[in-house]
Formats: sequence, structure tokens, C-alpha cells
Amino acid sequence: MLIVKKFGGSSVANAERINHVAQTIVNSYKEGNKVVVVLSAQGDTTDELIEKANEINPNASKREMDMLLATGEQQSVALMAMAIEKLGYPVISLNAFQCKIYSTSTYSNARIKDISTERINNELERKNIVIITGFQGVNRHLDVTTLGRGGSDTSAVALAAKLGADLCEIYTDVDGVYTCDPRIVKTAKKLDEITYDEMLELASLGAKVLHNRSVELAKKYSVNLVVRSSMTDAEGTVVKEDVKVERMLVNGVAVDKDVARIAVMGVKDEPGIAFKIFSLLSKAKISVDLIIQSIGRDSSKDISFTVTRGDRKEAVEILEANKGKLGFESISYNDSVAKVSAVGAGMATNPGVASMMFEAIYDVGINVKMISTSEIKITVLVSDKDADRAAVAIHDKFMDAGMQIG
Ligand code: ADP
Ligand code: ASP
Ligand code: MG
Repeated sequence: MLIVKKFGGSSVANAERINHVAQTIVNSYKEGNKVVVVLSAQGDTTDELIEKANEINPNASKREMDMLLATGEQQSVALMAMAIEKLGYPVISLNAFQCKIYSTSTYSNARIKDISTERINNELERKNIVIITGFQGVNRHLDVTTLGRGGSDTSAVALAAKLGADLCEIYTDVDGVYTCDPRIVKTAKKLDEITYDEMLELASLGAKVLHNRSVELAKKYSVNLVVRSSMTDAEGTVVKEDVKVERMLVNGVAVDKDVARIAVMGVKDEPGIAFKIFSLLSKAKISVDLIIQSIGRDSSKDISFTVTRGDRKEAVEILEANKGKLGFESISYNDSVAKVSAVGAGMATNPGVASMMFEAIYDVGINVKMISTSEIKITVLVSDKDADRAAVAIHDKFMDAGMQIG
């Protein structure tokens, strides 16, 4: 079998963890498999590199940030190759440049466009274990890009798709996908299986166990995907097109704390204003999520929306710079908010789900700032200090009601 195995930051955090993972990789190789490994930077390396950059220049260009951040993954692959060499097995580490992992040019949030498999296949033919840097690509200028936080999952799935791997295993610090982040909700249940669509929804709403783009790719190329623990042999969660179990009303609850809310107050109540605001932001590649428009005084209105915290500063600057054109009174923002979402394919046909969710939040006295619903999810925006409590309340409410989460 050709297997792609991805190990996240905590799985390779120190020498002991690297040696342990090296043994896992070698065991799979000894069974006769061709093994391609994708690694993240060790532990908190990426955060530490960001801090280092901030000490020198908090407004560093995204190009130079990518140049810096990509070094974290390069350290990991070299160290892992050394650990496998020590065990006496043939191994080679490669970065995105060497593997020709081509991406778009959007620094800090690039997308993989293509991967040339020649080098990797040659190394596999030579019986090497191939260790590849996650999270990074090269653009058409051959400059280094990164794929967005958590992007190593996407590197792994893209490689699995392109190489036609039989299996893509994502090894992490939990033993699978749960009905909610098990660090927040102690009663969360591990799922044996989840569909690509449900996983995509959970990942997009903040369940960082998988990078959302990795799930998109897995669905598109029908990659055999498993999330499992790098510390134990537990079975893990299979992510696939169809699952055996019945459709549930609610499959999971997700918390996303990487959220900021921006309010543009006193804009003229005339056609085209929303278009102007959001097209300015989209030109700067800033994604907007929850949007609320409310009626203000004197034929004016207020438009509020959420962006990621990393984009908040730039979004406000862009709007302020266009104050004349947009004709608003003022802008305010709040970085201390979070989204809590319930996800489930069964919601579409069950109106009771929304009211249960609001009741759960009301029961614990949490104020809801914004709401957004779709066929398979309900999202509320709350103060970030309330987010974990809201998640527990919502999760427990559905569990208590016997609405089989998971
Ligand atoms: P890695 O470094 O291995 O990529 P991440 O920290 O990116 O690991 O993702 C694993 C973490 O995702 C877990 O430690 C857990 O706290 C969090 N998480 C969030 N939602 C879920 C969920 N529904 N199921 C499992 N883990 C989740
Ligand atoms: N090292 C990168 C990050 O911390 C990528 C990853 O871990 O997937 O976001
Ligand atoms: Mg991750």
C-alpha cells in the first residue's frame, strides 16, 4: 500500500516524540508499505516564529512572514529523517521546493495548485521513506508560500490525492473527531465515521482537528482519510462520503475563537452600499462571515460583520481609507468574540433544533450578539469568554434530549 501519514505539531514536539513517531513510520514501512510522511513544525514553533517577527516588525510583509514560518516545517522533516536514519532505514526529507508543490501567490493563505510527483515517486522507487514539509508551497516565482494555519493537513491530503495513495492518516493529539472539541466539552463523544460534508462544515466553523481545505480536497478526490492519535493505537475516525449510521439531527458543536466583529455605523440607506463595502474587502482577499444590517436613525443604517482576528486591522484600515466614498459615520470593532455552531444534516427538516439551541444558551445566561443559520448549521456569536460555556450547554442540551449527537 501507498500510505501518506501526517503528524501535527504536538506529535513531533520534542526528541522523545520524534523518536516515537519515527518508530511508527518504520513499523509501517517494515510491513511492506510505501510511506510518505508529512510533518508540521514542532510544538509551538510557528507561534514562536510569529512572535519573533513581531518583535522586529509587527507590520512585516506576508512574503517575508512565509519565508520565516516555512522554516519550522523544514526543521521537523530533517530531524525526523535523522531519527529514521538512526533506526537504520532509508529515508530522505524534502521541502516544497524540492517536491515542486506549486501554490497560488497569496502569501500566508496560498492554495495548492499542483504537485509534481516525479521526485517523490523516484525516491519511493529507491525504497526511501519520504518525509515532506507540510504547510508550505512555492508560487510561480518559486517564492515560498504558506497555506494558512493548520495547513499541513491540506499538504497531506493533496499529496495523497496526487500520488493516488491508498490511505491518508492524520495523526494528532486526540484519537479522532469528536462531537465537540474534547478539551472544551468533557462529555464529547468520539465518532467512528463522519461524512466529508459534515466534517467540512465542522472544520469551516472552527473545529481545527482538520484544516477545512484538506476536507474539501479529500471529498473532491475521494481520499481515504482517517484521523487518529499519534500516542495510542485507538481506531480513529474515518472521514468518507457515506456513513453507515442514520442521519443525526446534530452531529457536532464547533467553537471558533479566531473571530472579530466590525460595525460600520451610520451608512446611507441607499442601494449599493453593502456591495461597495464587501467588494473592497474581497479585493483585499478578506473573507467576511456573519453579516447583519440594521436600521439606524434618519435614513441611515448600520452594517456589522465578522472577519478573522488576523484580518481585522487591515479591514478597518481599508474601510477608514474609503470613508468618503462609503459615507459612514464611524467604525467600531470587537476582538473578544467567538462563534459557536451546531452542525447536522438533520437540521434542515427540524425546526425544533434552533429553539433548543437558543434555550440552551439562555439557560446559562449568555447573551447572543449575532445569529446565522443555514440548512445544516446554526451559528451564534457570543463574547469569547462565554464561548466554551455556550458550547458545553448546547452540546449537553442535545445529548440530554436524546437527539443522538454523533
Ligand atoms: P495538530 O497539531 O496535530 O494538527 P491541532 O491542534 O491542529 O493538531 O488539532 C487537534 C486539536 O483539535 C485537538 O487537540 C482538539 O483540541 C481540537 N479539536 C477541535 N474540535 C475538535 C473535534 N470536534 N474533535 C477533535 N478535536 C477537536
Ligand atoms: N505549523 C503550521 C501551524 O502551526 C501548520 C500546521 O501545523 O498544520 O499552523
Ligand atoms: Mg492542525
